Amino acid sequence: MNTYFASFLEANQISQVQSDLEEYGKDRTKMHAPDPSIILFPKTTEHVSKILSYCNNNNISVVPSGGRTGLSGAAMAPNKEVVISLSKMNSIASVDSIGSLIEVEAGAILESIQAEVAKNGLYFPLDFASKGTAQIGGCISTNAGGVKVIKYGMTRDIVLGLEVVLMSGEILDLNKKLIKDNSGYNLIQPFIGSEGTLGVITKATLKCVPKPSNPQVALFACESFEQIPEILKEVRTAGYDLAAFEFFTSSGKDAVISHINSISYPFEEEYEFFTLIEICASKDDDMIDLMEILAEKELIIDGTTAENSSEVENLWGLRENISESVSMMGNVHKNDISVPVSKLIEFVTKLEKLVNTKYSQYHLVLFGHIGDGNIHVNIIDKEDRNISDFKKETHILDQEMFELIRSLNGSISAEHGIGLLKKEGLKYRRTELEISLMKQIKAVFDPKNLLNPGKIF
Ligand SMILES: Cc1cc2nc3c(=O)[nH]c(=O)nc-3n(C[C@H](O)[C@H](O)[C@H](O)COP(=O)(O)OP(=O)(O)OC[C@H]3O[C@@H](n4cnc5c(N)ncnc54)[C@H](O)[C@@H]3O)c2cc1C
Repeated sequence: MNTYFASFLEANQISQVQSDLEEYGKDRTKMHAPDPSIILFPKTTEHVSKILSYCNNNNISVVPSGGRTGLSGAAMAPNKEVVISLSKMNSIASVDSIGSLIEVEAGAILESIQAEVAKNGLYFPLDFASKGTAQIGGCISTNAGGVKVIKYGMTRDIVLGLEVVLMSGEILDLNKKLIKDNSGYNLIQPFIGSEGTLGVITKATLKCVPKPSNPQVALFACESFEQIPEILKEVRTAGYDLAAFEFFTSSGKDAVISHINSISYPFEEEYEFFTLIEICASKDDDMIDLMEILAEKELIIDGTTAENSSEVENLWGLRENISESVSMMGNVHKNDISVPVSKLIEFVTKLEKLVNTKYSQYHLVLFGHIGDGNIHVNIIDKEDRNISDFKKETHILDQEMFELIRSLNGSISAEHGIGLLKKEGLKYRRTELEISLMKQIKAVFDPKNLLNPGKIF
Protein backbone atom coordinates (compact mmCIF):
# COMPACT_ATOMS: atom_id res chain seq x y z
CA MET A 1 0.00 0.00 0.00
CA ASN A 2 2.74 2.44 0.99
CA THR A 3 4.63 1.81 -2.27
CA TYR A 4 1.55 2.71 -4.25
CA PHE A 5 0.93 5.95 -2.31
CA ALA A 6 4.62 6.85 -2.60
CA SER A 7 4.29 6.57 -6.41
CA PHE A 8 2.36 9.87 -6.54
CA LEU A 9 2.70 11.48 -3.09
CA GLU A 10 5.89 13.09 -1.77
CA ALA A 11 7.49 11.83 1.45
CA ASN A 12 6.00 14.69 3.48
CA GLN A 13 2.51 13.71 2.30
CA ILE A 14 2.65 10.29 3.96
CA SER A 15 3.09 9.67 7.67
CA GLN A 16 3.16 6.69 9.94
CA VAL A 17 4.88 8.52 12.76
CA GLN A 18 3.14 7.58 16.03
CA SER A 19 2.41 11.18 17.05
CA ASP A 20 0.73 11.83 13.67
CA LEU A 21 -1.26 8.60 13.87
CA GLU A 22 -2.56 9.72 17.25
CA GLU A 23 -3.18 13.33 16.27
CA TYR A 24 -4.82 12.82 12.87
CA GLY A 25 -6.76 9.74 13.94
CA LYS A 26 -8.96 11.63 16.38
CA ASP A 27 -11.21 14.63 16.96
CA ARG A 28 -12.00 16.49 20.20
CA THR A 29 -13.83 13.54 21.77
CA LYS A 30 -12.00 11.26 24.16
CA MET A 31 -14.27 8.22 24.14
CA HIS A 32 -12.31 6.13 21.58
CA ALA A 33 -8.58 5.61 21.07
CA PRO A 34 -7.15 6.60 17.66
CA ASP A 35 -5.50 3.76 15.75
CA PRO A 36 -5.21 4.54 12.01
CA SER A 37 -2.72 2.70 9.77
CA ILE A 38 -1.41 5.72 7.85
CA ILE A 39 -2.06 9.43 7.36
CA LEU A 40 -2.07 10.85 3.83
CA PHE A 41 -1.93 14.54 2.96
CA PRO A 42 -3.10 14.94 -0.67
CA LYS A 43 -2.42 18.25 -2.41
CA THR A 44 -4.83 17.88 -5.33
CA THR A 45 -8.22 16.44 -6.15
CA GLU A 46 -6.46 13.90 -8.39
CA HIS A 47 -4.45 12.69 -5.36
CA VAL A 48 -7.69 12.18 -3.41
CA SER A 49 -9.20 10.35 -6.37
CA LYS A 50 -6.23 7.98 -6.68
CA ILE A 51 -6.19 7.24 -2.93
CA LEU A 52 -9.91 6.50 -2.81
CA SER A 53 -9.95 4.40 -5.95
CA TYR A 54 -7.02 2.31 -4.65
CA CYS A 55 -8.66 1.85 -1.24
CA ASN A 56 -11.96 0.93 -2.87
CA ASN A 57 -10.34 -1.69 -5.07
CA ASN A 58 -8.42 -3.12 -2.12
CA ASN A 59 -11.26 -2.96 0.43
CA ILE A 60 -9.43 -0.52 2.70
CA SER A 61 -11.46 1.77 4.97
CA VAL A 62 -10.85 5.52 4.81
CA VAL A 63 -11.57 8.36 7.24
CA PRO A 64 -11.66 11.96 5.93
CA SER A 65 -10.09 14.33 8.44
CA GLY A 66 -10.53 18.11 8.69
CA GLY A 67 -9.51 20.35 11.60
CA ARG A 68 -10.40 17.56 14.08
CA THR A 69 -12.51 19.86 16.23
CA GLY A 70 -15.59 17.64 15.86
CA LEU A 71 -17.50 16.73 19.02
CA SER A 72 -19.18 13.49 17.96
CA GLY A 73 -16.26 11.19 17.14
CA ALA A 74 -17.05 11.41 13.39
CA ALA A 75 -13.39 11.93 12.41
CA MET A 76 -12.08 9.16 14.67
CA ALA A 77 -10.04 6.39 13.04
CA PRO A 78 -10.00 3.60 15.65
CA ASN A 79 -9.61 0.58 13.31
CA LYS A 80 -6.47 0.84 11.17
CA GLU A 81 -8.16 3.07 8.59
CA VAL A 82 -6.33 5.22 6.04
CA VAL A 83 -6.82 8.83 7.14
CA ILE A 84 -7.02 11.49 4.42
CA SER A 85 -6.17 14.87 5.90
CA LEU A 86 -7.24 17.80 3.74
CA SER A 87 -4.90 20.20 5.55
CA LYS A 88 -2.60 20.70 2.53
CA MET A 89 -5.58 21.55 0.28
CA ASN A 90 -6.32 24.91 1.86
CA SER A 91 -6.21 27.52 -0.88
CA ILE A 92 -8.74 30.34 -0.91
CA ALA A 93 -9.46 31.90 -4.28
CA SER A 94 -10.29 35.58 -4.48
CA VAL A 95 -13.83 36.68 -3.70
CA ASP A 96 -16.25 37.15 -6.58
CA SER A 97 -17.79 40.40 -5.34
CA ILE A 98 -20.34 40.59 -8.17
CA GLY A 99 -21.65 37.09 -7.48
CA SER A 100 -21.01 37.56 -3.71
CA LEU A 101 -19.31 34.18 -3.42
CA ILE A 102 -15.97 32.60 -2.70
CA GLU A 103 -14.32 29.39 -3.95
CA VAL A 104 -12.11 27.49 -1.52
CA GLU A 105 -10.40 24.15 -1.12
CA ALA A 106 -11.82 21.89 1.58
CA GLY A 107 -8.89 22.30 3.98
CA ALA A 108 -9.27 26.09 4.19
CA ILE A 109 -9.63 27.20 7.80
CA LEU A 110 -12.93 28.89 8.62
CA GLU A 111 -11.29 31.97 10.17
CA SER A 112 -9.07 32.48 7.10
CA ILE A 113 -12.16 32.41 4.85
CA GLN A 114 -13.86 34.99 7.10
CA ALA A 115 -10.76 37.22 6.86
CA GLU A 116 -10.51 36.93 3.07
CA VAL A 117 -14.19 37.75 2.62
CA ALA A 118 -13.91 40.73 5.03
CA LYS A 119 -10.98 42.14 3.01
CA ASN A 120 -13.38 42.38 0.10
CA GLY A 121 -16.04 44.30 2.02
CA LEU A 122 -18.36 41.32 2.44
CA TYR A 123 -19.12 39.00 5.36
CA PHE A 124 -18.87 35.23 5.78
CA PRO A 125 -21.62 34.32 8.23
CA LEU A 126 -20.48 30.91 9.50
CA ASP A 127 -18.98 31.54 12.94
CA PHE A 128 -18.19 29.56 16.07
CA ALA A 129 -15.51 29.18 18.74
CA SER A 130 -13.34 26.62 16.91
CA LYS A 131 -13.12 28.78 13.75
CA GLY A 132 -9.32 29.07 14.06
CA THR A 133 -8.93 25.30 13.53
CA ALA A 134 -12.08 23.94 11.86
CA GLN A 135 -11.78 23.42 8.10
CA ILE A 136 -14.57 24.27 5.71
CA GLY A 137 -14.72 20.61 4.54
CA GLY A 138 -15.39 19.60 8.16
CA CYS A 139 -17.96 22.38 8.56
CA ILE A 140 -19.80 21.25 5.43
CA SER A 141 -19.61 17.58 6.40
CA THR A 142 -21.12 18.34 9.81
CA ASN A 143 -23.52 21.02 8.52
CA ALA A 144 -22.05 23.18 11.27
CA GLY A 145 -24.21 25.78 12.98
CA GLY A 146 -22.73 28.29 15.41
CA VAL A 147 -23.56 31.70 16.77
CA LYS A 148 -25.08 33.39 13.70
CA VAL A 149 -27.57 30.70 12.62
CA ILE A 150 -30.50 32.76 13.89
CA LYS A 151 -29.82 35.32 11.12
CA TYR A 152 -28.02 33.43 8.36
CA GLY A 153 -28.94 29.73 8.77
CA MET A 154 -26.75 26.63 8.97
CA THR A 155 -23.82 25.74 6.67
CA ARG A 156 -26.37 24.08 4.38
CA ASP A 157 -27.76 27.53 3.58
CA ILE A 158 -24.49 28.99 2.33
CA VAL A 159 -23.11 26.20 0.13
CA LEU A 160 -23.63 26.92 -3.57
CA GLY A 161 -21.34 24.31 -5.08
CA LEU A 162 -19.15 21.35 -4.17
CA GLU A 163 -16.43 19.25 -5.72
CA VAL A 164 -16.61 15.77 -4.20
CA VAL A 165 -14.60 12.61 -4.78
CA LEU A 166 -16.58 9.40 -4.40
CA MET A 167 -15.14 6.21 -2.89
CA SER A 168 -14.84 4.85 -6.44
CA GLY A 169 -12.43 7.70 -7.21
CA GLU A 170 -14.94 9.41 -9.52
CA ILE A 171 -15.03 13.20 -9.25
CA LEU A 172 -18.31 15.12 -9.02
CA ASP A 173 -18.29 18.82 -9.86
CA LEU A 174 -21.62 20.02 -8.52
CA ASN A 175 -23.16 23.32 -9.54
CA LYS A 176 -20.38 25.84 -8.87
CA LYS A 177 -21.65 29.40 -9.20
CA LEU A 178 -25.36 29.21 -9.96
CA ILE A 179 -27.96 30.66 -7.63
CA LYS A 180 -30.71 28.99 -9.60
CA ASP A 181 -30.46 25.44 -10.89
CA ASN A 182 -33.58 23.28 -10.89
CA SER A 183 -32.19 20.67 -13.27
CA GLY A 184 -33.36 17.60 -11.36
CA TYR A 185 -32.31 16.39 -7.92
CA ASN A 186 -29.98 18.58 -5.89
CA LEU A 187 -26.90 16.37 -5.45
CA ILE A 188 -25.06 18.86 -3.25
CA GLN A 189 -27.34 18.60 -0.24
CA PRO A 190 -26.82 14.88 0.61
CA PHE A 191 -23.10 15.56 1.19
CA ILE A 192 -23.81 18.40 3.62
CA GLY A 193 -24.05 16.93 7.09
CA SER A 194 -23.11 13.43 5.87
CA GLU A 195 -20.11 13.32 8.24
CA GLY A 196 -17.66 12.13 5.60
CA THR A 197 -19.65 8.96 4.84
CA LEU A 198 -20.70 9.73 1.24
CA GLY A 199 -17.66 11.35 -0.37
CA VAL A 200 -14.56 13.43 0.28
CA ILE A 201 -15.21 17.13 -0.31
CA THR A 202 -12.27 18.76 -2.07
CA LYS A 203 -13.64 22.21 -3.05
CA ALA A 204 -16.60 24.41 -2.21
CA THR A 205 -18.29 27.50 -3.58
CA LEU A 206 -19.78 29.50 -0.73
CA LYS A 207 -22.18 32.37 -0.40
CA CYS A 208 -21.02 35.67 1.14
CA VAL A 209 -23.47 38.23 2.57
CA PRO A 210 -23.36 42.01 3.08
CA LYS A 211 -21.32 43.17 6.08
CA PRO A 212 -23.69 43.51 9.08
CA SER A 213 -24.61 47.12 9.65
CA ASN A 214 -23.76 48.60 13.04
CA PRO A 215 -23.48 45.38 15.10
CA GLN A 216 -24.17 45.92 18.81
CA VAL A 217 -23.57 43.40 21.58
CA ALA A 218 -25.01 43.24 25.10
CA LEU A 219 -25.01 40.84 28.02
CA PHE A 220 -28.14 40.68 30.16
CA ALA A 221 -28.56 38.96 33.52
CA CYS A 222 -31.86 37.32 34.46
CA GLU A 223 -33.39 35.94 37.63
CA SER A 224 -34.92 32.85 36.06
CA PHE A 225 -34.54 30.74 32.94
CA GLU A 226 -38.20 31.44 32.12
CA GLN A 227 -37.28 35.04 31.28
CA ILE A 228 -34.94 34.04 28.44
CA PRO A 229 -37.60 32.93 25.89
CA GLU A 230 -39.65 35.98 26.93
CA ILE A 231 -36.69 38.21 26.04
CA LEU A 232 -36.44 36.49 22.66
CA LYS A 233 -40.13 37.17 22.06
CA GLU A 234 -39.70 40.80 23.05
CA VAL A 235 -36.65 41.33 20.81
CA ARG A 236 -38.42 39.74 17.88
CA THR A 237 -41.74 41.49 18.24
CA ALA A 238 -40.03 44.85 18.75
CA GLY A 239 -38.53 44.34 15.27
CA TYR A 240 -34.82 44.19 16.12
CA ASP A 241 -32.58 42.58 13.50
CA LEU A 242 -31.21 39.75 15.62
CA ALA A 243 -27.75 38.39 14.70
CA ALA A 244 -27.15 36.19 17.77
CA PHE A 245 -29.11 35.09 20.83
CA GLU A 246 -26.98 33.00 23.19
CA PHE A 247 -27.48 31.71 26.71
CA PHE A 248 -25.36 30.50 29.64
CA THR A 249 -25.60 30.07 33.39
CA SER A 250 -23.32 31.11 36.24
CA SER A 251 -21.65 27.64 36.16
CA GLY A 252 -20.45 28.18 32.59
CA LYS A 253 -19.39 31.73 33.40
CA ASP A 254 -17.45 30.56 36.49
CA ALA A 255 -15.67 27.88 34.42
CA VAL A 256 -14.49 30.53 31.95
CA ILE A 257 -13.44 33.04 34.61
CA SER A 258 -11.41 30.43 36.47
CA HIS A 259 -9.66 29.08 33.35
CA ILE A 260 -9.18 32.10 31.06
CA ASN A 261 -7.32 35.00 32.69
CA SER A 262 -7.98 37.45 29.87
CA ILE A 263 -11.77 37.30 30.28
CA SER A 264 -13.48 39.38 32.96
CA TYR A 265 -16.96 39.30 34.47
CA PRO A 266 -18.65 42.63 33.69
CA PHE A 267 -21.10 42.88 36.61
CA GLU A 268 -20.56 43.72 40.29
CA GLU A 269 -23.28 41.36 41.50
CA GLU A 270 -23.46 37.62 40.91
CA TYR A 271 -26.39 36.32 38.81
CA GLU A 272 -27.62 32.90 37.71
CA PHE A 273 -28.77 33.28 34.09
CA PHE A 274 -27.30 35.28 31.21
CA THR A 275 -28.24 36.02 27.64
CA LEU A 276 -25.83 37.47 25.12
CA ILE A 277 -27.53 39.35 22.31
CA GLU A 278 -26.11 40.77 19.10
CA ILE A 279 -28.25 42.96 16.86
CA CYS A 280 -27.64 44.80 13.61
CA ALA A 281 -28.75 48.21 14.79
CA SER A 282 -30.43 50.91 12.74
CA LYS A 283 -29.27 53.65 15.14
CA ASP A 284 -26.47 53.98 17.71
CA ASP A 285 -28.60 53.68 20.84
CA ASP A 286 -30.74 50.72 19.70
CA MET A 287 -29.21 48.35 22.24
CA ILE A 288 -29.63 50.86 25.09
CA ASP A 289 -33.30 51.23 24.10
CA LEU A 290 -33.68 47.47 24.08
CA MET A 291 -32.11 47.22 27.53
CA GLU A 292 -34.56 49.81 28.86
CA ILE A 293 -37.54 47.98 27.37
CA LEU A 294 -36.39 44.68 28.92
CA ALA A 295 -35.72 46.28 32.30
CA GLU A 296 -39.11 48.02 32.29
CA LYS A 297 -40.81 44.70 31.60
CA GLU A 298 -38.76 43.16 34.44
CA LEU A 299 -37.22 40.57 32.14
CA ILE A 300 -33.63 41.45 33.14
CA ILE A 301 -32.03 42.45 36.42
CA ASP A 302 -28.79 43.81 35.02
CA GLY A 303 -27.23 44.51 31.66
CA THR A 304 -24.20 45.90 29.93
CA THR A 305 -23.57 46.92 26.35
CA ALA A 306 -20.17 46.61 24.68
CA GLU A 307 -18.76 50.06 23.95
CA ASN A 308 -15.71 49.02 21.91
CA SER A 309 -14.17 46.01 20.19
CA SER A 310 -12.35 44.75 23.28
CA GLU A 311 -15.61 44.78 25.26
CA VAL A 312 -17.30 42.93 22.39
CA GLU A 313 -14.49 40.38 22.53
CA ASN A 314 -14.80 40.05 26.30
CA LEU A 315 -18.57 39.48 26.27
CA TRP A 316 -18.30 36.97 23.43
CA GLY A 317 -15.31 35.39 25.21
CA LEU A 318 -17.50 34.66 28.22
CA ARG A 319 -19.82 32.64 26.04
CA GLU A 320 -17.44 31.11 23.49
CA ASN A 321 -14.91 29.74 25.98
CA ILE A 322 -17.44 27.76 27.98
CA SER A 323 -17.12 24.49 26.03
CA GLU A 324 -13.34 24.29 26.41
CA SER A 325 -13.34 25.59 30.02
CA VAL A 326 -15.95 23.05 31.11
CA SER A 327 -13.83 20.29 29.55
CA MET A 328 -11.04 21.24 31.95
CA MET A 329 -13.25 20.64 35.00
CA GLY A 330 -12.88 16.84 35.03
CA ASN A 331 -15.07 14.11 33.54
CA VAL A 332 -17.61 15.81 31.29
CA HIS A 333 -20.35 14.18 29.25
CA LYS A 334 -21.57 16.43 26.43
CA ASN A 335 -24.82 16.49 24.51
CA ASP A 336 -25.94 19.00 21.90
CA ILE A 337 -29.69 18.97 21.63
CA SER A 338 -32.46 21.07 20.17
CA VAL A 339 -36.14 21.45 20.91
CA PRO A 340 -38.72 23.81 19.43
CA VAL A 341 -38.04 27.24 20.95
CA SER A 342 -41.53 27.23 22.47
CA LYS A 343 -40.62 24.03 24.40
CA LEU A 344 -37.36 25.29 25.93
CA ILE A 345 -38.76 25.98 29.39
CA GLU A 346 -40.45 22.57 29.58
CA PHE A 347 -37.22 20.86 28.50
CA VAL A 348 -34.96 22.67 30.97
CA THR A 349 -37.42 22.26 33.87
CA LYS A 350 -37.82 18.52 33.28
CA LEU A 351 -34.10 17.94 32.67
CA GLU A 352 -33.13 19.75 35.89
CA LYS A 353 -35.69 17.69 37.80
CA LEU A 354 -34.31 14.46 36.30
CA VAL A 355 -30.72 15.31 37.18
CA ASN A 356 -31.51 16.67 40.65
CA THR A 357 -33.63 13.71 41.68
CA LYS A 358 -31.86 10.74 40.06
CA TYR A 359 -28.32 11.96 39.34
CA SER A 360 -27.56 14.38 42.14
CA GLN A 361 -23.87 13.37 42.03
CA TYR A 362 -23.69 15.34 38.78
CA HIS A 363 -23.50 19.00 38.06
CA LEU A 364 -25.47 20.26 35.05
CA VAL A 365 -23.95 23.04 32.91
CA LEU A 366 -26.28 24.41 30.23
CA PHE A 367 -25.39 26.91 27.52
CA GLY A 368 -25.89 27.36 23.82
CA HIS A 369 -27.52 28.94 20.83
CA ILE A 370 -30.83 29.26 22.64
CA GLY A 371 -32.45 31.42 19.96
CA ASP A 372 -32.33 28.33 17.71
CA GLY A 373 -33.69 26.06 20.47
CA ASN A 374 -30.17 24.60 20.76
CA ILE A 375 -28.74 23.79 24.19
CA HIS A 376 -25.36 22.21 24.93
CA VAL A 377 -26.04 19.91 27.88
CA ASN A 378 -22.89 19.21 29.89
CA ILE A 379 -22.92 16.70 32.74
CA ILE A 380 -19.97 17.02 35.09
CA ASP A 381 -19.01 14.45 37.69
CA LYS A 382 -18.75 16.49 40.91
CA GLU A 383 -16.73 13.79 42.60
CA ASP A 384 -14.60 12.90 39.57
CA ARG A 385 -15.05 9.17 40.18
CA ASN A 386 -14.13 6.21 38.00
CA ILE A 387 -14.55 7.06 34.26
CA SER A 388 -16.23 3.75 33.39
CA ASP A 389 -18.93 4.25 36.09
CA PHE A 390 -19.39 7.77 34.74
CA LYS A 391 -19.82 6.47 31.18
CA LYS A 392 -22.33 3.80 32.28
CA GLU A 393 -24.41 6.23 34.31
CA THR A 394 -24.43 9.00 31.71
CA HIS A 395 -25.45 6.39 29.13
CA ILE A 396 -28.59 5.65 31.17
CA LEU A 397 -29.17 9.35 31.75
CA ASP A 398 -28.91 9.91 27.98
CA GLN A 399 -31.70 7.43 27.27
CA GLU A 400 -33.98 9.24 29.71
CA MET A 401 -33.07 12.64 28.32
CA PHE A 402 -33.52 11.43 24.72
CA GLU A 403 -37.04 10.18 25.60
CA LEU A 404 -37.81 13.63 26.96
CA ILE A 405 -36.43 15.25 23.80
CA ARG A 406 -38.47 12.92 21.59
CA SER A 407 -41.63 13.76 23.55
CA LEU A 408 -40.98 17.45 22.78
CA ASN A 409 -40.28 16.77 19.09
CA GLY A 410 -36.64 17.78 19.52
CA SER A 411 -33.38 16.42 18.15
CA ILE A 412 -30.65 14.54 20.02
CA SER A 413 -28.09 16.28 17.80
CA ALA A 414 -28.62 19.94 16.93
CA GLU A 415 -25.33 20.68 15.15
CA HIS A 416 -22.49 18.35 16.17
CA GLY A 417 -23.74 15.28 14.29
CA ILE A 418 -24.02 11.60 15.19
CA GLY A 419 -20.50 10.24 14.51
CA LEU A 420 -19.58 7.37 16.81
CA LEU A 421 -20.89 8.91 20.00
CA LYS A 422 -24.57 9.49 19.31
CA LYS A 423 -25.39 6.45 17.16
CA GLU A 424 -27.72 4.98 19.77
CA GLY A 425 -29.56 8.26 19.94
CA LEU A 426 -30.45 8.28 16.23
CA LYS A 427 -33.60 6.21 16.75
CA TYR A 428 -34.95 8.85 19.14
CA ARG A 429 -35.08 11.33 16.26
CA ARG A 430 -35.41 9.31 13.05
CA THR A 431 -37.99 6.64 12.15
CA GLU A 432 -36.99 3.16 10.96
CA LEU A 433 -38.05 4.14 7.45
CA GLU A 434 -35.85 7.25 7.52
CA ILE A 435 -32.85 5.27 8.77
CA SER A 436 -33.41 2.64 6.10
CA LEU A 437 -33.55 5.34 3.38
CA MET A 438 -30.34 6.90 4.73
CA LYS A 439 -28.61 3.51 4.54
CA GLN A 440 -29.79 3.12 0.94
CA ILE A 441 -28.33 6.53 0.06
CA LYS A 442 -25.05 5.49 1.69
CA ALA A 443 -25.02 2.31 -0.43
CA VAL A 444 -25.46 4.31 -3.65
CA PHE A 445 -22.35 6.42 -2.97
CA ASP A 446 -20.24 3.82 -1.16
CA PRO A 447 -21.56 0.30 -1.87
CA LYS A 448 -18.73 -1.45 -0.03
CA ASN A 449 -19.16 0.69 3.12
CA LEU A 450 -15.50 1.73 3.17
CA LEU A 451 -15.83 5.50 3.61
CA ASN A 452 -15.89 6.49 7.29
CA PRO A 453 -17.51 3.16 8.24
CA GLY A 454 -19.32 2.82 11.54
CA LYS A 455 -20.23 6.50 11.69
CA ILE A 456 -23.90 7.61 11.97
CA PHE A 457 -25.28 4.00 11.74
C1 LIG B 1 -14.61 24.95 21.24
C2 LIG B 1 -15.50 24.35 20.19
C3 LIG B 1 -16.67 25.01 19.82
C4 LIG B 1 -17.49 24.50 18.84
N1 LIG B 1 -18.62 25.18 18.51
C5 LIG B 1 -19.42 24.70 17.54
C6 LIG B 1 -20.60 25.42 17.16
O1 LIG B 1 -20.95 26.45 17.73
N2 LIG B 1 -21.36 24.89 16.18
C7 LIG B 1 -21.03 23.73 15.54
O2 LIG B 1 -21.76 23.31 14.63
N3 LIG B 1 -19.93 23.03 15.89
C8 LIG B 1 -19.13 23.48 16.85
N4 LIG B 1 -18.02 22.77 17.23
C9 LIG B 1 -17.76 21.46 16.60
C10 LIG B 1 -16.81 21.49 15.37
O3 LIG B 1 -15.93 22.59 15.42
C11 LIG B 1 -17.61 21.50 14.08
O4 LIG B 1 -18.34 20.29 13.99
C12 LIG B 1 -16.77 21.67 12.82
O5 LIG B 1 -17.63 21.79 11.72
C13 LIG B 1 -15.82 20.50 12.56
O6 LIG B 1 -14.90 20.87 11.56
P1 LIG B 1 -13.48 20.13 11.45
O7 LIG B 1 -12.78 20.64 10.25
O8 LIG B 1 -12.76 20.22 12.72
O9 LIG B 1 -13.96 18.64 11.16
P2 LIG B 1 -13.45 17.27 11.76
O10 LIG B 1 -13.71 17.21 13.23
O11 LIG B 1 -12.08 17.00 11.31
O12 LIG B 1 -14.43 16.27 11.02
C14 LIG B 1 -15.83 16.32 11.22
C15 LIG B 1 -16.51 15.37 10.22
O13 LIG B 1 -16.32 15.86 8.90
C16 LIG B 1 -15.65 14.88 8.09
N5 LIG B 1 -14.79 15.61 7.17
C17 LIG B 1 -13.83 16.52 7.47
N6 LIG B 1 -13.33 17.04 6.34
C18 LIG B 1 -13.98 16.43 5.31
C19 LIG B 1 -13.92 16.54 3.88
N7 LIG B 1 -13.09 17.39 3.29
N8 LIG B 1 -14.73 15.75 3.15
C20 LIG B 1 -15.58 14.89 3.73
N9 LIG B 1 -15.69 14.75 5.06
C21 LIG B 1 -14.90 15.52 5.83
C22 LIG B 1 -14.93 13.96 9.08
O14 LIG B 1 -14.76 12.68 8.55
C23 LIG B 1 -15.93 13.97 10.22
O15 LIG B 1 -16.97 13.08 9.91
C24 LIG B 1 -17.17 23.26 18.22
C25 LIG B 1 -16.01 22.58 18.60
C26 LIG B 1 -15.18 23.11 19.57
C27 LIG B 1 -13.93 22.36 19.94
